[in-house]
Amino acid sequence: MSKDQLWQLVLSELELKLSRANFITWLNNTSVAFLKNEKIVINCPNNFVKEWLDKKLRKTLLNTIKTFSPQVEEIQYNIQPNEKNLSVGQSYQKQQSPLQSQIMFPVNKNSDLLPKYTFSNFIVGSFNELAYVAAKNVTKNPGKIYNPYFVYGGVGLGKTHIIQAIGNEIFQKKKKNIKIKYILAPNLTSKIISSIRTQVVEKYIKELLSYNVLIVDDIEFLSGKEKTQEIFFRIFNELYQKNAQIVLSSDRSPKLINNLGERLRSRFEGGMVVDIGLPDFETRMAILNQKIESKGIVLEEEILEFIAQNITNNIREIEGALNRAILLKEYQKNTKEIINNLKEILNTPSKNISPNNILKEVSNYFNISQKDILKNSRKKEIVYPRQVYIYILRSQLNLSFPSIASNANYKDHTTVIYAFKKIENNIKKNINLKRDIDTILQNIYNKV
Ligand code: ADP
Ligand code: MG
Repeated sequence: MSKDQLWQLVLSELELKLSRANFITWLNNTSVAFLKNEKIVINCPNNFVKEWLDKKLRKTLLNTIKTFSPQVEEIQYNIQPNEKNLSVGQSYQKQQSPLQSQIMFPVNKNSDLLPKYTFSNFIVGSFNELAYVAAKNVTKNPGKIYNPYFVYGGVGLGKTHIIQAIGNEIFQKKKKNIKIKYILAPNLTSKIISSIRTQVVEKYIKELLSYNVLIVDDIEFLSGKEKTQEIFFRIFNELYQKNAQIVLSSDRSPKLINNLGERLRSRFEGGMVVDIGLPDFETRMAILNQKIESKGIVLEEEILEFIAQNITNNIREIEGALNRAILLKEYQKNTKEIINNLKEILNTPSKNISPNNILKEVSNYFNISQKDILKNSRKKEIVYPRQVYIYILRSQLNLSFPSIASNANYKDHTTVIYAFKKIENNIKKNINLKRDIDTILQNIYNKV
């Protein structure tokens, strides 16, 4: 296997394991510089990426590489800040590989929209019909009908796709006469914070106010970020007044976003709030068929059905499994081998559990209500279960600390890091703690 082939396989696997945002942010423009015996050198576009891969992804990266190249023991990094290390994307294109990874799609520099998210490749079923119809209406008359357009739903169900499709369609229609910006809420927050520090916040606000369409993804991230909320409120109002279109997505409805100021919540509710549910079997098959057709590939019906039957609540995972199947087929695997391989990834238990499952089992185990676990209490009977809850969220779902903070109802994620580290350290020394956690994990996994 060549080093480029290896990297393709590793990327296809990581695409399943990481959130899309992380995958794009940290693996875009990476490639393998060198692979020999136990050593692999990975090209990174800059030091940030290197640090993140080294600190946050080291274990996962090594394990993933080892599934394809078992002799590898050591990862090193090479910083290569130019287009040369686009080699992954280039080699995809050269070989016309079917693996349509994110990496092949350039981002529009002005708007940060990805052109691949369009309505024409968005499958509509009863689970997302309302969201779709409303979105199309927004594009017909931006800023005039539904403001804001607010879509919410679970992970991997098409929120980013649909809000970017809105941006892309408006852009297609209006071209030069319109300024559109897509931004992830975590990036918005960090930009606001850094611009406050460097005293250019007014300039940044002014920039945001210059857009005719402002699309903010994963807005639930503003939970507990008071300063960002305050500034976003101001931006929202000014944009609204001049009929600029605001488009928002969230993993939950405005009502359920914790630690969100009332006035912002009522603004979010003041336009069109639509949800995306779960696609049924037929729709999942339609999505799979559309994806293989667009890649010009033929894949056995049996494989498609296996995927549609077994992955029910996340379209991103459906795509990930499909990409994997396509890749395996390229490597001459037969239908049975492909299905067996897919079974293996489906057995990774963390795929099926949610923060809610975890909270429920922690609450059952300690016999403390879910509400009490989420209370900001210093009582020992509550602090300990809450730390266990945090630990399990991190160890099983690999959630980011800010997102754990929002799940566990903390304002600040430093406390969450502290709690996680504390349990992680003690688990090695304290048998009771280990038993508590093992039992809870068994309960969680036995019920899904
Ligand atoms: P979310 O933002 O809700 O987590 P995404 O928008 O990133 O989910 O969708 C995950 C993947 O599934 C993307 O690659 C997206 O293109 C695809 N997808 C989601 N919904 C649909 C759909 N209705 N039709 C086709 N592809 C979809
Ligand atoms: Mg998204």
